[in-house]
Amino acid sequence: MPVAVRNLEDGPAVFSDLDNGIQLEWQGKGDGAGEDVQYVPDALMQNIAFTKAMRNGIFALVTEDEAIEAVAQQQVSQEAKRADAASSARATLSPEVDNDLIQVNCIGPSTRGTGTCGEPLTVRAKASGDAPHLCPRHKALVSQYALAEVNGTITWVRATVAPRESQ
Ligand SMILES: [Zn+2]
Repeated sequence: MPVAVRNLEDGPAVFSDLDNGIQLEWQGKGDGAGEDVQYVPDALMQNIAFTKAMRNGIFALVTEDEAIEAVAQQQVSQEAKRADAASSARATLSPEVDNDLIQVNCIGPSTRGTGTCGEPLTVRAKASGDAPHLCPRHKALVSQYALAEVNGTITWVRATVAPRESQ
């Protein structure tokens, strides 16, 4: 049955028993996350170097109560780490980011014959570039618009009719 062993040193300790494929790591004595106590497999208790380290006061057996307390601390700390990771993941995926409503103007042709319609529209900032900004009256023209580079900016232009100002 594995026994719980505490690292009595101030810094982290690592013990490897390569013959038995064991590698354990302890944090320094009094670690806030309880990682200064680890369960040690039986095989390690037969390891001469390990028993020597225990005799030298580097490691000490702890009582079952102390072990339970340390494991509880480890669980609390792991839970907190998981909660941290989950909340930062949520922040990354936050739907609020870039989801502000912005006001744009309809780029459909003006009813007066020159320029654009200019009808104010409200769109999601994130989706703003996904489609040409067209008011309900001009929505039917959507297939006439394509993305093109104008003066170094990628913008929606009406493909079938050349803009009047460039003629
Ligand atoms: Zn319009």
